[in-house]
Amino acid sequence: MIRPKVKFTNKITVSNNVPSTNKDLKTYFNTLRCPLCNGQLDSISKLETVKLYCVSNFEEYICILNTTIYPPTFWWEEVSIYHGNNKYWIGQEYKNLDMKCSIQIRSIDKEGRVIEGSKIKSMVFKFKLFDFQSLDKNRILSKLKTILVFQ
Ligand SMILES: [Zn+2]
Repeated sequence: MIRPKVKFTNKITVSNNVPSTNKDLKTYFNTLRCPLCNGQLDSISKLETVKLYCVSNFEEYICILNTTIYPPTFWWEEVSIYHGNNKYWIGQEYKNLDMKCSIQIRSIDKEGRVIEGSKIKSMVFKFKLFDFQSLDKNRILSKLKTILVFQ
């Protein structure tokens, strides 16, 4: 399956200010996938934004798109990965000119539940680290491991 390249931008330019039609948006949303399970995304529309989340597990992947322009631009993306003894949460913000990537790691029990009161390891980077629409779970995890080595 060939997936159209999704453009990421941290700027909302006036020249790009073409209003989106519902049909355009629906077509566009169908090109996006959950990076963890490759599943389709469901949407909740707001006035200026649309929140999309994985249909099989809303926690796996969530993104918020600015839909006042077409193609829409990403304002936010987050994934939660349960792997080994940890839950890895990655949130990326593109809304402002300064991009931000936050990573939080928490311990999970044998049933995969976050251990309440356990220490949260968190770090923030001032740039985008993950291009979720072109990564899968294994690639995200291996990139995470590389990042953590340097922390
Ligand atoms: Zn998913």
